[in-house]
Amino acid sequence: MFNLILFGPPGAGKGTQSLQVAEKYRLAHISTGDIFRSEIRNETPLGLKVRSIIEKGELVPDELLIDLLRSAMHKYADVKGFIFDGFPRTLRQAADLDNLLAEEGEKVNLTLALEVEDHELITRLLIRAEREGRKDDTREVIANRLNVYQTQTRPLIDFYTQQGKFRAVHGQGTIGEIFGRLCKEIDVAFSNQ
Ligand code: AMP
Repeated sequence: MFNLILFGPPGAGKGTQSLQVAEKYRLAHISTGDIFRSEIRNETPLGLKVRSIIEKGELVPDELLIDLLRSAMHKYADVKGFIFDGFPRTLRQAADLDNLLAEEGEKVNLTLALEVEDHELITRLLIRAEREGRKDDTREVIANRLNVYQTQTRPLIDFYTQQGKFRAVHGQGTIGEIFGRLCKEIDVAFSNQ
């Protein structure tokens, strides 16, 4: 299997790029943000529990992620691998993911980060707020999400760098240009497998 994490701050383009990468490399796409939004829409017990946390731009507690991820992964049989979008976001989640993959004799093969300047992230998120009306795309919540990324998620860069699994690509330009940069890195990682 080839297991890829698409990493980066909110607004970096992880969702858009993940879908294209998943299609090209035939990976199963798992977006924890999409899963939570669907739980909220369907007013499930989990959705009701996490709604206010997400609307404030905070992270859902780690212990709620692991079961969610396990059941998302088990929905796919015989996949060539996974692309994780928006997960892991904390060191604890990264350790949980390693354990979960190890249960299947698998591992994280590559973490690819999309690097985008802060002012560009804010502009993109505000545009998305107008288009999609996401409750967590208001100016204050965006500021909090960027702050949460810096303090809780960014440390994962060291975690994966130490394992020789981290690569960053320039996340600004056209969608096609950025996709091309990601594919180049994935192809190298594939050929080194
Ligand atoms: P996203 O669509 O990935 O930006 O996720 C939207 C929101 O869902 C985040 O701001 C968090 O509140 C929550 N969320 C998504 N993924 C995670 C995760 N891996 N850990 C904790 N909270 C998450």
